Amino acid sequence: MLFEKLAHSGHEEVVFCHNPDAGLRAIIAIHNTILGPALGGLRMWPYPTEEEALEDVLRLSRTMTLKAAVAGLNLGGGKCVILGDPATDKSEALFRSLGRFIESLNGRYITAEDVGIDVSDMEYVFQETDNVVGVHQVHGGSGDPAPFTAYGTIQGIRASLHHRFGNENLADYSFAVQGAGHVGFELVRQLRAQEAKVFVTDIQESSVDRCVEELGAEAVSLDDIYDVEADVFCPSALGGVVNADTIPRFRFKIICGSANNQLADDESGDELNRRGILYAPDYAVNAGGLMNVSIEFEGYNRERAKRMMRTIYDNVGTIFEIARRDSIPTWLAANRLAEQRIDAIGKIKMPYLGHQPHRFPGRKRAY
Ligand code: NAD
Repeated sequence: MLFEKLAHSGHEEVVFCHNPDAGLRAIIAIHNTILGPALGGLRMWPYPTEEEALEDVLRLSRTMTLKAAVAGLNLGGGKCVILGDPATDKSEALFRSLGRFIESLNGRYITAEDVGIDVSDMEYVFQETDNVVGVHQVHGGSGDPAPFTAYGTIQGIRASLHHRFGNENLADYSFAVQGAGHVGFELVRQLRAQEAKVFVTDIQESSVDRCVEELGAEAVSLDDIYDVEADVFCPSALGGVVNADTIPRFRFKIICGSANNQLADDESGDELNRRGILYAPDYAVNAGGLMNVSIEFEGYNRERAKRMMRTIYDNVGTIFEIARRDSIPTWLAANRLAEQRIDAIGKIKMPYLGHQPHRFPGRKRAY
């Protein structure tokens, strides 16, 4: 049953981490390491069942493989989930115990912050293993990735506008931004800085107020965001918001935002294609955060990070071209682009390079 699932999803390895004294129950999923070590965030969530935790970690780690491959990074896909309530179940022992499990994987999996985890939790993990990115700047880390994710999303938006209209001047278009959190607020700020018209919504009224008062965006209610007459829809909150219920309401020409897993299912991507709504695949658009942390291995450098983020424009453009060439929806074109790179690079892994002595010499050669 379990191996059948792994055969279907294509995972290499799944590690169940158990330390009852530390209250640790965690699952590390390593999806694919052909391109390099599996990198992906650590999530802590009170999953109702163990099956749901396993489903989540398998799905998220596969997306990381595709994201890294399309981004041109020498990284594979992985993810870790801790089964527990972040409000009540955190402890030093729990995170250090997990850090030791990660260390035992000898660099095959590298972790980072994700939902339910904050910087102080990562500091404990970091005490037990070097295989952590997104650590605080005082440790030579890259800090908050959100502004970079937003900057990368802008590159995806420009590529989409160029493909759809042949004009990528942001000031000529209107945008509906769902979610004004870490990434969403930055996205609104960067769009407004280019004098674009922006509609915004969030369940936190104060976040919307900030966008209105500080940035000059226009507030809309939570449900009305799907009906807004705007050129571009930018999901920047939850996944699954592009679905059979919302699609018939859309008057958008383009969907391009930072949220992970925007399509409820592949059929929703097919339906957008049928309706002529251009979908910029989420994992190609929101790779800025991953690109940013990947630079930590070589010694973090902000300018290099921004340069790398600008490649998102070309990556998204390439996906649109594949979709046009092969007459397929863009979500499928993105998957193909990722799979082709993994396949091609997998085939250059000979000859054997002999003994490679250093794994993390000053964090300069992780891959
Ligand atoms: P965040 O938690 O800071 O912001 C999410 C915002 O969405 C919050 O303000 C929340 O109130 C709001 N929200 C939740 N449900 C909503 C709803 N139904 N309608 C409107 N607003 C709602 O998270 P973030 O770091 O800004 O990430 C946003 C999205 O981008 C997530 O899907 C995340 O997985 C993805 N992402 C983030 C990064 C990053 O660098 N932070 C990188 C890649 C992908």
